[in-house]
Amino acid sequence: MPDSRPFPHVLVIGAGIVGAATAFYLSRAGAKVTVLDAKAPSAGATGASDGAVSVASKRPGVMMQLARQARDLYAQLVQDEILTDLFHTRPTYLFARNDLEVAVIAAQQRDLDHQGEATLWLDRTMLMRRVPGLGASVLAGLKVPRDGHAIGYEVTHRLLACANVVPLRHTPVLELVLSGQRVIGVETPGGRLLADVVVLAAGIDSMHFLGLDKVMIPRKGQLIVTDRAAFGYAALPGPLMSASYLASKHTPTAQQSSVSLVIDPLRTGQFLIGSSRETGVLDRQTDIRTVTTILREAVDVYPPLARQRVIRTFAGIRATTEDGLPIVGRHPELDGLILATAMQGDGICLGPLVGAAVARWALGQDSAQDLAALTPARFLKPCGSDHSRSDVL
Ligand SMILES: Cc1cc2nc3c(=O)[nH]c(=O)nc-3n(C[C@H](O)[C@H](O)[C@H](O)COP(=O)(O)OP(=O)(O)OC[C@H]3O[C@@H](n4cnc5c(N)ncnc54)[C@H](O)[C@@H]3O)c2cc1C
Repeated sequence: MPDSRPFPHVLVIGAGIVGAATAFYLSRAGAKVTVLDAKAPSAGATGASDGAVSVASKRPGVMMQLARQARDLYAQLVQDEILTDLFHTRPTYLFARNDLEVAVIAAQQRDLDHQGEATLWLDRTMLMRRVPGLGASVLAGLKVPRDGHAIGYEVTHRLLACANVVPLRHTPVLELVLSGQRVIGVETPGGRLLADVVVLAAGIDSMHFLGLDKVMIPRKGQLIVTDRAAFGYAALPGPLMSASYLASKHTPTAQQSSVSLVIDPLRTGQFLIGSSRETGVLDRQTDIRTVTTILREAVDVYPPLARQRVIRTFAGIRATTEDGLPIVGRHPELDGLILATAMQGDGICLGPLVGAAVARWALGQDSAQDLAALTPARFLKPCGSDHSRSDVL
């Protein structure tokens, strides 16, 4: 017998890549979906990030597994003519500049191999053949051939367009509206909006709800954009990713701020060079000291960059947690509420996959992937501690 229940009306808070992907999958399934954004689509981290759809960079375990599935989903969305021209496959080159870093990428190779991910170890000579122009400090590298890239705001725009969803801009959600233990809508400056299911996908601003300020940690990242390359030979075949970047991902609890270098060749011929990891910092300013540190390191690793001009710097805020995992799943106590936030530095990669799972939950189905490790229940305490919701009815 076909399921005769009517589709729920789902209200999504946030039009970043996660909210857009959720809206896309809901609308494709036939549900009614309303997306609200305090500002505009991609106004948060999605519009201020790099776009590595990368398995090479992930922590071993659940994040590496999910990244592999997420990358496959990107390829599927291209095949389905949804993300045509927006996602492409390219290799990532992890590199090491001292013995400790060699050990870090060797360990990453073991973990990637364990997941069945193809890799190729490159000594300096082999690496130079593939990446001519590398600086003298680079000792060895690891090629991960099947990684990919997509620009977050382009994906967000496309997913919303394919869903035929026009987000309500400049519509901040002030509070969740409850009836007993059920979330039944949201309060906005323009009034109350009711829905069957509410999805919290507000990036770092999710911390203003449900006591999440106690578990979410902002980490600012500054990035630099150059003009187009004119080297006389092909620009980089893929991003150069430092072993220290891996190390920073592997130790999410490290509170100190740092710079971990990635030099990313964009399809425009420009380079995107980043980034800092500034723990606890919420402003989106760039500063000369950090930009200089990043550029100095970048030119040491890849001296031809010194010929480029810097045309822009910008910063975004990663929403992170102490255990380095996103917060994705049904709220443990409040019916009708799904959380999809704290995507770390991985939300461009994982966004479509998370959106697909959230849509299934909103429709009362199980998710296709095992996302149990991301459950909000690992952080959220009984409702008594919650100060951001209003009990009504
Ligand atoms: C420097 C940097 C580099 C990165 N590089 C990569 C990378 O290479 N690969 C990768 O996979 N990821 C990367 N990321 C991470 C990625 O950008 C994020 O994980 C992802 O964009 C998060 O998407 P989101 O939809 O969860 O949140 P966001 O994109 O932050 O969207 C949240 C939206 O919610 C809206 N909002 C906030 N509060 C409210 C409210 N009260 N009511 C209504 N709307 C609200 C905001 O305006 C915003 O539009 C990087 C991040 C940074 C900062």
